[in-house]
Amino acid sequence: MTATLVYLDAVPAEGLRRPQLELLAAGRALGPISAAVGAQPSDAVVRELGEQGVDAVYTPGETDLSGFLVAPQAAWLAAVAAVAQPGAVILDNSLECKEIAGRLGVRLDAGVITDVVALEADGTAHKSVLAGSYEVRAKATSPVAVFTVKPGAADAAPASAAGSPSVQTVAVPEDAFARAGRITERTDRPRTGRPELTEATIVVAGGRGTDGDFGPVEELADALGAAVGASRAATDAGWISHDLQVGQTGKTVSPQLYISAGISGAIQQKAGMQTAKVIVAVNSDPESPIFEIADFGVVGDLFKVLPQATEEIKRRRA
Ligand SMILES: Cc1cc2nc3c(=O)[nH]c(=O)nc-3n(C[C@H](O)[C@H](O)[C@H](O)COP(=O)(O)OP(=O)(O)OC[C@H]3O[C@@H](n4cnc5c(N)ncnc54)[C@H](O)[C@@H]3O)c2cc1C
Repeated sequence: MTATLVYLDAVPAEGLRRPQLELLAAGRALGPISAAVGAQPSDAVVRELGEQGVDAVYTPGETDLSGFLVAPQAAWLAAVAAVAQPGAVILDNSLECKEIAGRLGVRLDAGVITDVVALEADGTAHKSVLAGSYEVRAKATSPVAVFTVKPGAADAAPASAAGSPSVQTVAVPEDAFARAGRITERTDRPRTGRPELTEATIVVAGGRGTDGDFGPVEELADALGAAVGASRAATDAGWISHDLQVGQTGKTVSPQLYISAGISGAIQQKAGMQTAKVIVAVNSDPESPIFEIADFGVVGDLFKVLPQATEEIKRRRA
């Protein structure tokens, strides 16, 4: 079977991130996998890719594609595909990767399926549509398919059989940079010490019910080692950074545990969190729609419930 090519834009020297492990696991659902890594990976990362069942790693050599916007990445991936001859190419579901996928689809004459939440061995993709309210199954009719896959689509786990992948340089086509946007400056976000929202295994999110006081949400998050998220009502009110918005127009999260506090559960909020493994909702209104998707619900005032939970967690962890 033709290997599936998984695109990893930049891999930290210390190792693959959880969403990247999930992407590789999603690829394994289709069969053998190879990886296209947008910047030269360290030896440790190549070893880790081997543990993930990757049999070939393609790199752009000395060129670091993370310094450019999407066009050169699409051109390079097309060049890698010409060498690797994959039956499918998998990217993450970020806005940037969706744009790369679109451009790659044109170059490879491939069907492009975005917002994938699961992949079947025959290339059938389960796709979340209409703000997550429906799931459809879709299959590309072209010889090559391009998928962008949401976080949590597969469990991050090592492959059943590890290998030692070959590493091959595929040059970025010279014309790829002709009209490329170059990133001229990056500003790191201030560090909170909390995990990255899309990678966290636990997320505690607050909404309009916090009335602007995210203290209890943050304290519970810190007791659990969790990331903080928010509804759009909270980010639009300026109570918390827009980066932390979860939902249709915010981030998609798929943690093991999502604690929702003072959030009504509008369809656009659910679109970003309903694939969480366990959902706990705290809301003072027993009729709130969030309880329709919650695994556990607490009807109560978040300013009473969250501090009690925080205290109990700290006591048990002491
Ligand atoms: C195109 C579009 C895109 C959108 N994208 C997003 C998105 O990405 N993410 C998103 O979140 N929204 C999004 N929205 C907005 C969405 O429709 C809702 O308006 C929003 O999610 C509501 O936020 P909320 O639940 O915090 O506020 P509300 O709907 O006002 O709910 C507040 C909840 O808090 C409860 N509450 C109040 N006080 C307390 C208390 N003391 N203790 C416990 N509970 C309390 C209330 O009972 C209520 O259920 C989008 C809307 C549109 C039209």
